[in-house]
Amino acid sequence: MDGETPEDAVNGSSEVQGGTVKYCEHCGAAIDRRAVICPKCGVPLEAFGRWMQRRAEASPKSRLAALLMAWFFGILGIHRFYVGKTGTGVLWLLTLGVMGIGALVDLIMIAAGSFRDSQGRPLLVWLHEE
Ligand SMILES: [Zn+2]
Repeated sequence: MDGETPEDAVNGSSEVQGGTVKYCEHCGAAIDRRAVICPKCGVPLEAFGRWMQRRAEASPKSRLAALLMAWFFGILGIHRFYVGKTGTGVLWLLTLGVMGIGALVDLIMIAAGSFRDSQGRPLLVWLHEE
């Protein structure tokens, strides 16, 4: 009893419930299964960390803007100029998006989040907050 804080009691009881608890991969603390950051050591948990990593590696260009450009001006390659792919942008402009097929593929790639900018970073973020 002595020295036991209400917090310890809460942690202890949640541990008993089993299914709602997981263990931090960094410090081993029992934490809520839905937690994205360990409340004990403050380290992002694996899935959330991967998500953060993906977002950090994502293109600073807006996926929504690229999608709209590809939708309306895809055969002119405007979206390729937008992400810095000037070379293929010119090619798209001259070939009408390589007869429309390249433009269609780009549109699908952008929608699927696998379209990349000139530096190889995927366009993942629909709209960047200012
Ligand atoms: Zn931890």
